[in-house]
Amino acid sequence: MSPLDTAQNGAQGANGCGSAPAPVLKERGQREVFCGLTGIIWLHRKIQDAFFLVVGSRTCAHLIQSAAGVMIFAEPRFGTAIIDERDLAGLADVNDELDKVVGRLLERRPDIKMLFLVGSCPSEVIKLDLSRAASRLNRIHAPNVKILAYSGSGIETTFTQGEDACLAALVPTMPAEDAAAPKSLLVVGALAEVVEDQMLRVFGDLGIGPVRFLPPRRAAELPPVGPNTVMLLAQPFLGETARLLEERGARRLAAPFPLGVEGTTGWLAAAAKEWGVDAERFRAVTAPRAERARKALARHREVLEGKKIFFFPDSQLEVPLARFVSRELGMALTEVGTPYLHRAHLAQELEQLPATVQLSEGQDVDRQLDRCRAAQPDLVVCGLGLANPLEAEGIATKWSIELLFTPVQGYEQAADLAELFARPLRRRAILKVA
Ligand code: SF4
Repeated sequence: MSPLDTAQNGAQGANGCGSAPAPVLKERGQREVFCGLTGIIWLHRKIQDAFFLVVGSRTCAHLIQSAAGVMIFAEPRFGTAIIDERDLAGLADVNDELDKVVGRLLERRPDIKMLFLVGSCPSEVIKLDLSRAASRLNRIHAPNVKILAYSGSGIETTFTQGEDACLAALVPTMPAEDAAAPKSLLVVGALAEVVEDQMLRVFGDLGIGPVRFLPPRRAAELPPVGPNTVMLLAQPFLGETARLLEERGARRLAAPFPLGVEGTTGWLAAAAKEWGVDAERFRAVTAPRAERARKALARHREVLEGKKIFFFPDSQLEVPLARFVSRELGMALTEVGTPYLHRAHLAQELEQLPATVQLSEGQDVDRQLDRCRAAQPDLVVCGLGLANPLEAEGIATKWSIELLFTPVQGYEQAADLAELFARPLRRRAILKVA
């Protein structure tokens, strides 16, 4: 039996899932989500010599400052070039202003090796072409600094698409892989360093490598890409990045996402199969880790088993999370909403959802709130904008953005992920007793 068979059979046997869920409810109404600028909060921690310059309004500046907390002790690695009323009215040459801001910033901060110009709603409204601005500025500041552009605008995007847009901007700048290079594994998606280090150890024990990560920790460490690159997506919201990597010759391994024990085992199994790792070695490396993780999950399962959960569309992590909480924590799924359902990337996840679950794509927030109230869930996963009103109605909530700020992938983090769902219910139980 190949490692992949092991993982899938284990998963199917547990709950008897595997039949296709009910048809997807598609909605195109009012949405309540953060914009793509939010991704800067975790991306700036990840690429340690990068700077994210938002070209936007005071609202954009407030958003990222309040989401990131005020950083007074460190040199910040993000900022906002404010587009003011004069710019919006076309009274000033915004490109000249931008060149001056970038020049001053790079002069003061020689530690910056990669600069992202991040577009916003205001920069889109005035049709400021940041890609052209990046090419112009690259000619001035290369080779010391690489300057790239992407959009984090809230027009028609959700907050995790900021990471997709950022990584997609990096792909064309990745070096071409040497034609004689051995097959390499590219893990795509920003992960906490502790998670990357754990994954490197597991891949090393399995004899899989070389393993590289996108995004890298430093600008100079951009991994090469080409026909000998196989990639594993670590996040389910990287559709455009994956498409561009495929255009450069990389091949995506079909896999679930590394959330929970089963997801992590299936994800590792996809790479193990590609590298021809035999089933015994795979079991010897993964089984003890999986067993420890299962034991750590048990105390959260006690709190969560049988509880009803409702997912509002926000992070695009909803489908893998729903698979995890239903199969490994025994939660009852009501509706699983996602801003966008990438059927190819989520194929293995969708197979493992119970047939009774209502999937929804997009949002019409008032109608969805009605369905949520009717379902009477014990826990709702949603954005910050919906959490307070729902809490006021007596419904426990979990902010989906926390799932991006917390290391949750891999065996060692499975219990931390479960804890994020269990904590609001434990807090409620304490308040009731008090
Ligand atoms: S990019 Fe748009 S949605 Fe995001 S903070 Fe700026 S104005 Fe608001």
